[in-house]
Amino acid sequence: GLEPYDDQNIFARILRGEIPNKTVYEDECALAFHDISPQASVHVLVIPKGPYVSSVDFAARASDSEIAGFWRAVGKVAAALGLETEGYRLLSNHGLNAGQEVPHFHVHVFGGGPLGRMIS
Ligand code: 5GP
Repeated sequence: GLEPYDDQNIFARILRGEIPNKTVYEDECALAFHDISPQASVHVLVIPKGPYVSSVDFAARASDSEIAGFWRAVGKVAAALGLETEGYRLLSNHGLNAGQEVPHFHVHVFGGGPLGRMIS
C-alpha cells in the first residue's frame, strides 16, 4: 500500500521555497529543476506541484488537467533543454525495489550525450 504524503519531504520543501533549486521550467502544474547529484551531463527532475507520493498515487488522485499539464511540462522541459533532436531518457523510481529516495512523484530527465542502456 501507499504511505501517506509526507509534506516535510525535500521536494515539498523545494516547492514551498524553503530550499533553493536551479529551476529549468515552472508553470501551474509542474516544477523542473537540476538534480543536486547529476548522473548524466543533463539531469533534471520534473515534479507535479500537488502532493503525490508516486505515479500510482498521481494517476489515482490528480485531476485530468494536472496529469495533462504535468506531461506537457515534461515535454517543455525536454524542448527547453534542447534535447528533442538529440534524444533523452525519462525515468521514474517507485518504492523500495526501485530505491525511490524522495516520496514525491518525480520524473528524471537524462540527456546531454549517449546514455548507455541503463541508469541506476
Ligand atoms: P529517486 O531516487 O527518489 O528517484 O531520486 C531522487 C533524486 O533527488 C536523486 O537523484 C537526488 O540526487 C535528488 N535530490 C535529493 N535531494 C535533492 C535536493 O535537495 N535538491 C535537488 N535538486 N535534488 C535532490
